[in-house]
Amino acid sequence: MTRDYDGVEYDTERSSDFAAAPDSFQRLWTPHRLVYIENGQLPGEDECPFCIAPNKTDEEALIVARGEHAFALLNLFPYNSGHLLVCPYRHVSTYDLATAEEVAEIGSMTQTAMRVLTNISHAHGFNLGMNQGRVAGAGIAEHLHQHVVPRWALDANFFPIIAETKAVPRLLGEVRAEIAGAWSQYAVRDSA
Ligand SMILES: [Zn+2]
Repeated sequence: MTRDYDGVEYDTERSSDFAAAPDSFQRLWTPHRLVYIENGQLPGEDECPFCIAPNKTDEEALIVARGEHAFALLNLFPYNSGHLLVCPYRHVSTYDLATAEEVAEIGSMTQTAMRVLTNISHAHGFNLGMNQGRVAGAGIAEHLHQHVVPRWALDANFFPIIAETKAVPRLLGEVRAEIAGAWSQYAVRDSA
């Protein structure tokens, strides 16, 4: 029995009394937040940020690696520090439209990204995923991109704070340089 503020006793159910399974979808994957993240990266209504990025310098576009068919860049508004996006250069919307070469290189760059982040950031785990279409949470639905989100055991409390401070642009630059510098050392392979 528990008492409420008026001292009335009532029955409560504890969450620990229910059958439990790791609720990774709710806890780790928050599409509403990713929409916000991705919308923040839009440079203009008619411009595709992932088509524009490769024409900029690595530092300007926060690119950490360029492959033959795909490239990897930091998300401008990361869910976590080191949140990467792996995109084909080609402006295609969904995974089934990617060529075999693009699929292979998105895969190998995702593997490299995991190795790099595991070694330099000591990530405990990752969320990997592609939101396909706006109804599925894609903020930039027109250009395919795979999220690589490093996770730490206690990140839920820490990163929402730094992600909303003015320090983020400087941190992003530092994180980009660190990841880009380690990329070749841990590269699975550069192209398909
Ligand atoms: Zn595009």
